[in-house]
Amino acid sequence: KAEPILVSSCLLGLPTRYDGRCKANSAVRVFLQRHNLIPIPVCPEQLAGLPTPRPQTRFTRGDGRSLLNGDGEVRNELQQPVSSLFLKGAGQTLAIARLCGCRRAIFKERSPSCGSRHIYLEERVVPGMGVAAALLEQHGIELWSEENLPEG
Ligand code: SF4
Repeated sequence: KAEPILVSSCLLGLPTRYDGRCKANSAVRVFLQRHNLIPIPVCPEQLAGLPTPRPQTRFTRGDGRSLLNGDGEVRNELQQPVSSLFLKGAGQTLAIARLCGCRRAIFKERSPSCGSRHIYLEERVVPGMGVAAALLEQHGIELWSEENLPEG
């Protein structure tokens, strides 16, 4: 039976990135087809109401897990704090996962919303999760990225 799965919309070829480009990923496309998965495209930052293009955003403190615990911070390149918007987008993403019955997600690595293993803290790539990824994990949704799809 086909299973719905959340997928970062930029990985599916939708031009939702901060710079208005996409990151269509052929490995993700092949994986979805091979496993009979129905992709549900989500962009947590667009779901937050942020425009596209938008200023690039990075963590200035902590990561998504710490932000959910009341610490952590994301700021855009204009130095505007956008943590509450990112939390809103994460909540909308979780709501879509529930509506569609998704138990797994394939999310774009290193994004401040979607990263599941690494994020940018200031200029450095460090271990950590994006805000939406952390909220999904907290609610039991299994996360993969385009860089660690299961074998087979
Ligand atoms: Fe892609 Fe996620 Fe960034 Fe949206 S928030 S453009 S889905 S990485």
